[in-house]
Amino acid sequence: MAQGSASERREAKTLLLVGGGHAHVAVLADWARRGAPPATRMLLLTPHRHLRYSGMVPGWLAGQHDRDEGRVDLAALAARAGVEWVQGRCVALDPEARTVTTESGAGIAFDLASLDTGGVGRAAAMLGDDPRILDIRPIEGFVERIARWRHPRRLVVAGGGAGGVELAFALRNLAVAETRPEVALVTGGGGLLPGFSEGVRNRAATALMRQGITLHLDDAQIARGAIRAGETSLEPAELIVAALGSAAPDWVRASGLAVNDAGFALVDAHQRSLSHPHIFAAGDVAARADRALAHSGVHAVFAGPVLAANLREGLAGKPPRRTYHPRWNNLYLMNTGDGRAIASYGRLSAEGRWVLALKHRIDKRWIAQYARLTDQA
Ligand SMILES: Cc1cc2nc3c(=O)[nH]c(=O)nc-3n(C[C@H](O)[C@H](O)[C@H](O)COP(=O)(O)OP(=O)(O)OC[C@H]3O[C@@H](n4cnc5c(N)ncnc54)[C@H](O)[C@@H]3O)c2cc1C
Repeated sequence: MAQGSASERREAKTLLLVGGGHAHVAVLADWARRGAPPATRMLLLTPHRHLRYSGMVPGWLAGQHDRDEGRVDLAALAARAGVEWVQGRCVALDPEARTVTTESGAGIAFDLASLDTGGVGRAAAMLGDDPRILDIRPIEGFVERIARWRHPRRLVVAGGGAGGVELAFALRNLAVAETRPEVALVTGGGGLLPGFSEGVRNRAATALMRQGITLHLDDAQIARGAIRAGETSLEPAELIVAALGSAAPDWVRASGLAVNDAGFALVDAHQRSLSHPHIFAAGDVAARADRALAHSGVHAVFAGPVLAANLREGLAGKPPRRTYHPRWNNLYLMNTGDGRAIASYGRLSAEGRWVLALKHRIDKRWIAQYARLTDQA
């Protein structure tokens, strides 16, 4: 295990941002606005030029946004922040040698690194192999593949969390379909929207019924080539959309970084690796060691400015000072695809067209702040 003091004392020269997720865009924006840390080489490694904002994908499917409206131009934002964009995917990390290897076999050396690559899909592990399965992670691949489906008639969505529920609504209201696809939502044993208040769950169940989406509170499984919810067959189904949560990328555990049981990088309240203090992590790829925190975009977004400040300290050879304190409650706005949305805030819930208007306003404002920065580039 690497020891902190030596690496902290050493002046960091190269910062490598691995992944262009929601936390790293906040880091880039901070440097674009306030100036980059001095005398440092900074790199952003990410496979795609854009970060797609997953919160606007259901709205795109339901015809409320253009396909590419909810994207942040990472290359332009990086340029604005004085960071070099390197197109590529990290497949291995050696925290001792301080190198990252990309899928093309190239090695990138760093002094300080920060990980924000998100998680990977769990469909194959949870459902098995079936050519009809479409995992929502990575979101870019999901968007490309779902865009090819012009007229699906019968779909299954596996996953009862907010992502699965929103996608069930969105696919039922699929803008390009001539006739409304039949949609079955299979939540798993945890039921509909686990962790949300009863009010939100009731509103979602009522909206699903109103829209004719069938709800199965059993585990989705594929047996002998057929998709089932418990004992009920859901065949024929043309497409099985899997929204089963995030798994950790294999290279995180393989790197020797401290990880939790599920293989996510364990970090402290400063987003710093428990085992390797010259490595930070935020968003879905990380797990806080001091508290349980759901994998959700909200936490990646709010941890971003804290990460920016702590990386700045790290580059100056100082220990991190800022701590990410999650709020007690966060506002979640779930698009029901029919021009309405459901709001959740702690035990409170609300629903209506105004909730969707609020969601669109918040989502577009989030995107616009980055577009404004890159327009100034
Ligand atoms: C349909 C849907 C709706 C959602 N709605 C909401 C919502 O309303 N609110 C909410 O809080 N959460 C929502 N979520 C969850 C949210 O999308 C994730 O929690 C969030 O995207 C995680 O952010 P992140 O910064 O960890 O990584 P991501 O946003 O996943 O970004 C990761 C980035 O890293 C890049 N990358 C990936 N692997 C590598 C690699 N090996 N090397 C280099 N770069 C890599 C990717 O290309 C990407 O740019 C939703 C999810 C889905 C699927």
